[in-house]
Amino acid sequence: MQGTLLFLGTGGSAGIPIITCQCPVCKSSSPLNKRYRPSALLTVGKKKYLLDVGPDFRDQALHYNILNLDGVLLTHTHYDHIGGIDELRIFYFKHKKRLKTLASIETYEELRHRFHYLFMTKQADGSLQSQLDFEILEEDFGKIRFGGLDVQYVSYEQANMKVTGYRFGDLAYISDIREYKDRVIDEIRGVDTLILSALRYDPSEVHFSIDEAIAFSNRVGPNRTFLTHIAHDLEHDETNQKLPEHIRLAHDGLELTFQL
Ligand SMILES: [Zn+2]
Ligand SMILES: [Zn+2]
Repeated sequence: MQGTLLFLGTGGSAGIPIITCQCPVCKSSSPLNKRYRPSALLTVGKKKYLLDVGPDFRDQALHYNILNLDGVLLTHTHYDHIGGIDELRIFYFKHKKRLKTLASIETYEELRHRFHYLFMTKQADGSLQSQLDFEILEEDFGKIRFGGLDVQYVSYEQANMKVTGYRFGDLAYISDIREYKDRVIDEIRGVDTLILSALRYDPSEVHFSIDEAIAFSNRVGPNRTFLTHIAHDLEHDETNQKLPEHIRLAHDGLELTFQL
């Protein structure tokens, strides 16, 4: 079966343009240099799944005409990945149904603390429940059937925070990776398409640099790699000219197909 992945956002945590920044990339008129906070939409058959719900989700949902969702998969609780979680209430109100949400136990506990009111909605039977129907990943690696979708998941770390990466058939989405065990490579080896975060050329304590992302991609060995979570240091066309042929910067609105 074929699925599609649409990049809803490919920017770093501040998005591009960055508020107040006057640099050439932030001031660029090219749509390829406009980057919402990182997120993606998977479509498989008639079903749609959201990968992360950052602070730009409202704009993204309106821009890409997202009318319904069959599930949300979260990577971790940094604001650029969950800042739009409030907007998911609309789907609850519109469809009168709790939205299936996949997250690690660590992500779930943190959300409960930071967005406690989302977990206090009175249900028909009088009980208080979350507006999101959580499916919780207690292990670091595994496979799960989530809302009709076969999902394989892996765990790694960014600044001491556990982050979840996902594999769907021959595509893997690995964002916000800094420290990882070799098992991550073993679990995603054989994918045709790798989506990987890389901030800029200069080293970062919380992200791969471009060179580290290339090295990681070489270890996995996919046919094509798309870099996301991109800072304003990287002009789209200029960077793509320097990258190896099979590694490209993704851009907002780019759609890929993959096999499940
Ligand atoms: Zn991030
Ligand atoms: Zn800038």
